[in-house]
Amino acid sequence: MINIAIDGPSGAGKSSIAKILAKKLTYTHLDTGSMYRAVAYKAMMNHLDIENEDVIVDMLKDTDIRLTNDGKIYLDDTDVSDMIRTNEISLLASNVSKHAKVRKDLVSRQQKMALNKGVIMDGRDIGTVVLKDAEVKIFLTASTIKRAQRRYLQNQQLNIASDLDQLIKEIEQRDYQDTHRAASPLVKASDAIEIDSSDITIDEVVDKILEIVNRKVNVK
Ligand code: C5P
Repeated sequence: MINIAIDGPSGAGKSSIAKILAKKLTYTHLDTGSMYRAVAYKAMMNHLDIENEDVIVDMLKDTDIRLTNDGKIYLDDTDVSDMIRTNEISLLASNVSKHAKVRKDLVSRQQKMALNKGVIMDGRDIGTVVLKDAEVKIFLTASTIKRAQRRYLQNQQLNIASDLDQLIKEIEQRDYQDTHRAASPLVKASDAIEIDSSDITIDEVVDKILEIVNRKVNVK
């Protein structure tokens, strides 16, 4: 078994694609964005200052985050899978993720989860920081408008009210924040394979990645 890293901007389809791949390969999917979201959610519920790195790091000392095989996320034993998907939490997660010490804590948890291989991890810094030695690294992109349209549909399915123009603005803001932060900004790893998902279906992206994975596994 190998480890697979999937990075890219928000809304490029990383999680949906990783989920399907995990099923096909019987690997474990770990959505690291959900961990930053859970941290932001807990900070918000406790009225903590997201900008204060030390306060958040302190909170983490007493925080349990568990990702289950069926795609749920538990924060201190409470299932927060749906609560962390709001637009408000998306932006707060991006804010909380700029703190180097917060990243260090979550990165070390993520590395432990991938020790036994057979993991597909998606995020922003998986190929560059968390799993630098992942056997397959994918950098998944898509145009801003396509990403906003996908998020809009996702929100509709979750019964979250949203406005397309507002979503475009939020995606642009998050892209800016994620690519311009000092700590582990979103960049393509030099050994990652870039796939633009703007004009191809999820299944086509999955097939492309499966081809890359099979090539890698057969060579080994
Ligand atoms: O992927 P998702 O949109 O759920 O991630 C929420 C936020 O968490 C991102 O905007 C990003 O700032 C942060 N994140 C990160 N590193 C990761 C995964 C997510 O900084 N590995």
